[in-house]
Amino acid sequence: MIYLDYAANAPADPAVLELFCETERRYCGNPNSRHPAGLEAGKAMEKAAEGIAALMGAEPGEVIFTSGATEANNLAILGMAGARRKTGKHIITTPLEHASVSASLRCLQKQGWEIDQLSILPDGTPDREELRRLLRRDTAMVAVCTVDSELGTIEPVDEIRTILKEYPDCRLHVDATQAVGRIPVSFDGIDTMSFAPHKFGGLNGSGVLLKRKFLTLEPILHGGDSTTVWRSGTPALALAASAECALRLALDKRQERYDSVKKMHDTLRAALSRYDCVRINSPENSVPHILNLSVRDVKGTVFQRKLAERGVCVSVKSACSSDGAPSAAVLAVSGDARNALSSWRISLSHLTTPEEIDAFLNIFDSIIQPVQA
Ligand code: PLP
Repeated sequence: MIYLDYAANAPADPAVLELFCETERRYCGNPNSRHPAGLEAGKAMEKAAEGIAALMGAEPGEVIFTSGATEANNLAILGMAGARRKTGKHIITTPLEHASVSASLRCLQKQGWEIDQLSILPDGTPDREELRRLLRRDTAMVAVCTVDSELGTIEPVDEIRTILKEYPDCRLHVDATQAVGRIPVSFDGIDTMSFAPHKFGGLNGSGVLLKRKFLTLEPILHGGDSTTVWRSGTPALALAASAECALRLALDKRQERYDSVKKMHDTLRAALSRYDCVRINSPENSVPHILNLSVRDVKGTVFQRKLAERGVCVSVKSACSSDGAPSAAVLAVSGDARNALSSWRISLSHLTTPEEIDAFLNIFDSIIQPVQA
């Protein structure tokens, strides 16, 4: 098998798995309990939050542990909307967002919120002039990603943050799920930021929402006014400790891993660009971990199946959508619905080897010959 779908999920780092088991064995108390076992677990929970906060430039009280980035995005968007109904009912976003952002916004739209989507420029970034035009005094939130999950485009979060300085009542939510552990990410000047450790060596079922201390969110899970007021339920200590460990490892090795992925990305991009029927959809301004392409007049799902028959794992749109509709992100960048329907995504990690890239290119060539003939 050749696994080229690391943006959907990455294997757990052995050190992270070991820490998970050790933590589960060691702590039996509920971190919210006030007895010695609970206090011991509560301390370990605080340590995990302190570690994540220090690594991300946040404060320990600004870390909320969730079940994944989907929950983190839902909590940030629905929670903000619930808490700020009176401030305004207008939100600005982009067509590049993951379903957990766009579907949360659709849910708000049904409740009467106005949602504006920015146009995407040919370099894959949202139109900042349009953002300036659309911003209003009652705009409650701008929701953007740091790196979009389908094309890998790096979005101008710093610039957007600067534009929003003139709108102190407007909150900025950033979905950094495809960026954390891959490129430098800053929480500076951002109100809420989501990410998921399972994308960089952490465990499935763990996610993080960073939330500024002053900001109130209406919880989406109700069940207790405890240390986990933003997300009720017994805190999953072993997952929190694993998340901290995965983040530390990913950031320690970030540059080294990036360089290795970049080399393989460059080989892939150069080799695939030689085919007349191939269109590379990922703009140059993308992370090397993600390469989105289309084979002319072959549906992405068809090409994915042909690759899967030969043991190659790639994805069409994001792993979370299976409706067969063209990719909104590719459509926004290319403006071509047929091309969007043909698009699919290769995603790499430091675990990808040059041998796998060679083998993939051979398989790709054997599939593409009859298509080209
Ligand atoms: N946001 C982005 C940009 C993603 O790529 C993903 C998953 O692919 C998510 C959110 C959802 O993450 P999770 O699977 O942890 O819920």
